Amino acid sequence: MLNERMVALGTQRSVIRELFEFGKQRAAEVGAKNVFDFSIGNPSVPSPAIVNETALKLIQEMDPVVLHGYTSAQGDAGVRQMLAESVNRRFGTCFHENNFYMTVGAAAALCCCLNGLCNPGDEVIVFAPFFPEYRVFIEGAGAVMKMIPADIEGFQIDFDAFEAAISPRTKAVIVNSPNNPSGVVYSKETIEKLVTVLDKYSAKYGEPIYLIADEPYREIVFNGTDVPYLTHYYKNTLVCYSWSKSLSLPGQRMGYVIVPDEVTDSKLVYAAVAGAGRSLGYVNAPGLFQRVCAMCADVNADVAIYETNKNLLVNGLRDMGFHVVEPGGTFYMFPRTLIEDDIAFCEKAKDFNLLIVPGTGFGCPGHTRISYCVPTERAEKSLVAFEQLAKYYK
Ligand code: PLP
Repeated sequence: MLNERMVALGTQRSVIRELFEFGKQRAAEVGAKNVFDFSIGNPSVPSPAIVNETALKLIQEMDPVVLHGYTSAQGDAGVRQMLAESVNRRFGTCFHENNFYMTVGAAAALCCCLNGLCNPGDEVIVFAPFFPEYRVFIEGAGAVMKMIPADIEGFQIDFDAFEAAISPRTKAVIVNSPNNPSGVVYSKETIEKLVTVLDKYSAKYGEPIYLIADEPYREIVFNGTDVPYLTHYYKNTLVCYSWSKSLSLPGQRMGYVIVPDEVTDSKLVYAAVAGAGRSLGYVNAPGLFQRVCAMCADVNADVAIYETNKNLLVNGLRDMGFHVVEPGGTFYMFPRTLIEDDIAFCEKAKDFNLLIVPGTGFGCPGHTRISYCVPTERAEKSLVAFEQLAKYYK
């Protein structure tokens, strides 16, 4: 008898992957330029040239035995030192190398935190709309996911529902800002309220409730939007970061967890995160790209195209009568669908070669995610297809 949960996870493709595959098939039929594939969050701008230059330099100049060898399980010490300096410089923090644990992207960072923190049956709170893999990661850690329904007016947090969901089993809360799928950035006011609630219930139940800040989109913000750095607000914060989006490096699988000294029993929490990485078989994050990312830590891909696409699509869709909450960052937006049934709506969109993802999978029906990391010309041309879709429902 196999592990049924794993068989199911390995067999059922996600809705996003299904759409992505459908898009490839449709492109073969009608030509790639006539398919508006807004399904997947694969960055469309290249990594900055310095990334390849740094990788080449390391390959040409570094001792190959060291470069291609195992690093410390928590990551190369020099890498972690450089990252601590970079984060401190940019966010006014006081981290040191031993706060950093290098991971295989943000996904592994989340899994290390969840497995490190949770005992079987513990509860982890997520706010809709949320990244669907959270359920997989939380349940994989033996914990139970509790979802707070979305505040659909602004995609901030419904605090009444949040407080009502907290129990003595609440081990952690995941926040993702800038958010996939809404693109919204939590305001300072939202963060302050969130922290007040976390402090209140940590004190009430006599155990810390950890805040897991999932931040792969931190650098992709529009119009100078401020993304509060959460360790300044709440001491029991663990930061999960990756370069998948900011440096357009999702295939290289590089990220980290920060466990600040201020966290209650910080050394034990760090050990639990490292222990989780060990038990999951990560051994160490890829050695070459640990070094590349540390050396390029202050650099971002040129993400201006995402803002151009965002403006074009938000304005275009609003003109057609769509309700869209303004994204503060990322390359996603999450408009309301023109009918209640978001699954039927996205199915109909396929008739116009528009591949958009139903909100249901993000815990927020009645919406659709548009992932606009596409060439601007494609985004522009898609407006005709959106117009046809809107007309169909009028
Ligand atoms: N968290 C969120 C909100 C994401 O959107 C993603 C990827 O799309 C991840 C985590 C995983 O990122 P990574 O590719 O760095 O593992």
